[in-house]
Amino acid sequence: MAKKTKEPEVKKIKTVEDYFSLGKWKRFDQFKCKSCNFDSLDEKEIKDHIIEQHMPKLVRPKPKPVLYDRYNHEIK
Ligand SMILES: [Zn+2]
Repeated sequence: MAKKTKEPEVKKIKTVEDYFSLGKWKRFDQFKCKSCNFDSLDEKEIKDHIIEQHMPKLVRPKPKPVLYDRYNHEIK
């Protein structure tokens, strides 16, 4: 008998927490990067690493420069 489980499809935006896993090193928390071999005992450090190295950069739309001809009409 096949058991069907319906999971709601949620489009999740990846946060910085999705890029590392938390483990233990001796008695310390150790943060491990999932994308490379980087690890750190400092949460801020791993977050900085992930933001710098692995998170997609936000694409900013360039503002279109408005040009005018010599009659001060906008050139499109
Ligand atoms: Zn990494």
